[in-house]
Amino acid sequence: MQGFYSKLDSSPSSSPLLGGRRDGPQIPLSLAVEAEKAQALLQTFSSASLLASGGLGAFCVAADHALQMPVIQNHLWLRAALDNATHGLVGLWSWAVVIGLRKRSDLYEVLLAGLLASIIDLDHFYMAGSLSVKAAVSLPQRPPLHCSSLIPVFCLTLRFLMWLGRLKDAWCSLPWMLFISMATHHVRDAVRHGLWLCPFGNTAPLPYWLYVSTTATLPHLCSVLMYLTGTRDVISAKHGVAIDV
Ligand SMILES: [Zn+2]
Repeated sequence: MQGFYSKLDSSPSSSPLLGGRRDGPQIPLSLAVEAEKAQALLQTFSSASLLASGGLGAFCVAADHALQMPVIQNHLWLRAALDNATHGLVGLWSWAVVIGLRKRSDLYEVLLAGLLASIIDLDHFYMAGSLSVKAAVSLPQRPPLHCSSLIPVFCLTLRFLMWLGRLKDAWCSLPWMLFISMATHHVRDAVRHGLWLCPFGNTAPLPYWLYVSTTATLPHLCSVLMYLTGTRDVISAKHGVAIDV
């Protein structure tokens, strides 16, 4: 098993046109880069990755089923806390599917994704102007962070701010993490309330099967979009994506 970037010989002694190692077959660098990019994309659809996203869909069903238990439904605080924890776990799991878990910093990343997916619900308390759970769950209208139109606005603004601040490649995936955290949260809420596409209004509540399948598909969609926008290559280099060769 070798790291993704370790196969690219960038030492000064190697030819600028030839990417192969001295002791290996000489192949054009551009071809080697394209081949490895394609492999990184294929890894998105590896059996381990598909199994992980299938597990994510199964977790959604199991968690939602558990939340329907009378002992949970009858306790407002418990219901709100466990529902929010489920949002966090779905966000965490989704990001884990996107990046894979290979080292300790990956763990911090998925925990941050889970936290982001979870804290979105704090806007309920902001809108209620109170820390009362009862007030927070019985708002006359949906709170601001639940507007799905804001997802691309937030992600692109964050990307722009990172560009302005010249943040290093290590942070390049942050807008995508925000996208996954918000999108999974909104899609899960949409089963009850529909998607709120302000200023256009709400869609109808999402069919349950569509919520589960969308949640399981989103990490792969995110990976493909990251590949198409070039973020995936930077992540691969950062994480040293393990590819069996
Ligand atoms: Zn919510």
